[in-house]
Amino acid sequence: MSTRWCLRCLLREFDEQAYVKTLKERIERTPARERTDPAAYDARLEVCRACDRLERGTCLACGCYVELRAASKRGRCPYGKW
Ligand code: SF4
Repeated sequence: MSTRWCLRCLLREFDEQAYVKTLKERIERTPARERTDPAAYDARLEVCRACDRLERGTCLACGCYVELRAASKRGRCPYGKW
């Protein structure tokens, strides 16, 4: 069983592999009716990739994981880039 995490975990308590796995599973579990279509999803992520606020998958403007936010039709860039 992997170590649990929370927003207040310290890095030394953080199981990064388990966290990334959970994020990917959450993206995959997004219901089809709520999910961004694949072309728009890729376009959103390319905008993030070119953005100086992206760091290791996290948006430094809002603290979200961009791949998780971009996967939802309702997701928005806090700077209106998508
Ligand atoms: S969500 Fe917006 S501000 Fe954040 S990294 Fe992506 S493009 Fe940049």
